[in-house]
Amino acid sequence: DPEHPPHFLRAAIERDLADGTYAARRWAGSPGDAVHHASGDRDPMPVRTRFPPEPNGHLHIGHAKSIGLNFGLAREFGGVCHLRMDDTNPEKEEQAYVEGIVEMVRWLGWNWGAGDTQHLYHASDYFEFMYRAAEALVSDGLAYVDEQSGDELRASRGDYASAGVASPWRDRPREESLARLREMRKGRHPDGSMVLRARIDLASPNLQLRDPVLYRIRHVPHHRTGSAWCIYPAYIYAHPIEDALECITHSIATLEFVEHGAFYDWLLAHLVRLGLVQAPPPRQYEFGRLNLTRTVTSKRKLKALVDEGFVDGWDDPRLPTLAGLRRRGFTAAAVRNFVEATGASRHAAWVPYEALEQALRDDLDERAPRAMAVINPLPLDLQNWAEEFGTLTSVPCTAPVHPMHPQRGLRHFGLGPRLWIDRADFEAEPSKGFRRLAPGRRVRLKYGLIVECTGFQRAAGGEVESVQARIVPGSRSGTPGADAHKVSATITWLAQHDAVAAELHLLEPLFGVERPDEGEADFRSLVNPDSRRIARGFVEPTLATAGPGHHVQLERLGYFVADLHRHRAGTPVFNRSTALRSSLPG
Ligand code: ATP
Ligand code: MG
Ligand code: MG
Repeated sequence: DPEHPPHFLRAAIERDLADGTYAARRWAGSPGDAVHHASGDRDPMPVRTRFPPEPNGHLHIGHAKSIGLNFGLAREFGGVCHLRMDDTNPEKEEQAYVEGIVEMVRWLGWNWGAGDTQHLYHASDYFEFMYRAAEALVSDGLAYVDEQSGDELRASRGDYASAGVASPWRDRPREESLARLREMRKGRHPDGSMVLRARIDLASPNLQLRDPVLYRIRHVPHHRTGSAWCIYPAYIYAHPIEDALECITHSIATLEFVEHGAFYDWLLAHLVRLGLVQAPPPRQYEFGRLNLTRTVTSKRKLKALVDEGFVDGWDDPRLPTLAGLRRRGFTAAAVRNFVEATGASRHAAWVPYEALEQALRDDLDERAPRAMAVINPLPLDLQNWAEEFGTLTSVPCTAPVHPMHPQRGLRHFGLGPRLWIDRADFEAEPSKGFRRLAPGRRVRLKYGLIVECTGFQRAAGGEVESVQARIVPGSRSGTPGADAHKVSATITWLAQHDAVAAELHLLEPLFGVERPDEGEADFRSLVNPDSRRIARGFVEPTLATAGPGHHVQLERLGYFVADLHRHRAGTPVFNRSTALRSSLPG
């Protein structure tokens, strides 16, 4: 199947489908009230995956990859992908992040509904189950309450070179651990005074099997459960249970979690044996993270950039957050296509930012209407206007909405005696290779006519402040013989009488270096101070009615989008999404 190239995740799913591994699973509706799966009907879904963000920040381009894999594989195999808030860690989590996550997964075009069921879950709904499972593990001799200090505990776990050392509490009677665990839950002990640990193997080469911590005391309210809990499960313990309760079949994680895999299997095998979760349990598979050059993809670092004022919020168009990319004008299709093209491998991938930009061009080239704009306006006066057009103050011009799709119609705008051209299109003393307007030179005003430069003025500071030209008779676009005139270039322009003043935000990558978080320097010191330049220019009158989020190709300048927050019809604000080619300066 050329649309679905083989990769190890797809192969794992195909193998399980062929073997009927999960064919006998039962699904009993929402797992929120902690499983009575055995009483449910056979699960109608051949495959269940999940995308499990922690709501401690907003989603970024790396998450889009995980979203694409999980939702994409579920759809490909006729299954369903759950959206699960992995909200087990109260300190940094917020409802606002939950809402932002839901919005962006939806924006990418995915949904978590199947039939009448909305598969949107919260790990915090399973706290009661997780706690009961912990008591069961303690009663079974598989977990104990450890009262060592945090430092003692860390030191006693050893490292890759040396085995761990048993805690003095490791062999305490089960009843004593159980009593302590109940006291922990009731809030009888302060933060950090004790933890619940699994009892596995202190000599294991896998550090995650050296009696990992399952529960910590944290007298901190949770954004959903309020003050119901003062102990919270560790990720390593919570995640397998979340997957099992939701009848996940293939739990796709990033490579940092490879060492967690053995504990994942250990825990679920015991919970199956204790009759707490169904067999066969889900399995974890790891793939390499997506890293994008010239930016950082870590919620912690993105939060620092926002909190420390390097950018204007999580949806700043310079950020690789999905909200930022959307605001910059990246389309959901471009993001989806981009992450899909990166495939899935067992190695972390560094993908050039330019590949993301190219995915956007590939999407917008077909779709985006065209228009003209002037970023750095320079007045150009047509001195022989009256000779050509008499008392007319405006002459109508047209251009195709899309050059490849004539059926999409024409744009209409005026040509008048006073124009705006871009500063970059005029040189008083033309440099070598410069082919656009200069004294004595002829250029075509695109969709308009040919002009010949007759003069210019400089301001006191030496900068050119106005240019004069005369119309070449008979050169109007569309008239017979107009193409016979020789010109050295064609430039874009706007008539002063109908151009619309606009703010044009010209955005560069936030970091000048390829991998800002891999070197010695703190990533903050590598932020590009010129990542945003705000130009006060003009756009074609056809854009006067564009709404926020409107995509347009401004001819020669790039793809732009009307800003989602600040754009108004009377005072347009456009962000440059990407230049037309990958190395276009300015
Ligand atoms: P961060 O380091 O940015 O905080 P995270 O992995 O802690 O990311 P989660 O909210 O736990 O963030 O991520 C949800 C899912 O998205 C996880 O399954 C995680 O593995 C995956 N994910 C996060 N970042 C990337 C990435 N760069 N590439 C691919 N998948 C990612
Ligand atoms: Mg995480
Ligand atoms: Mg994280």
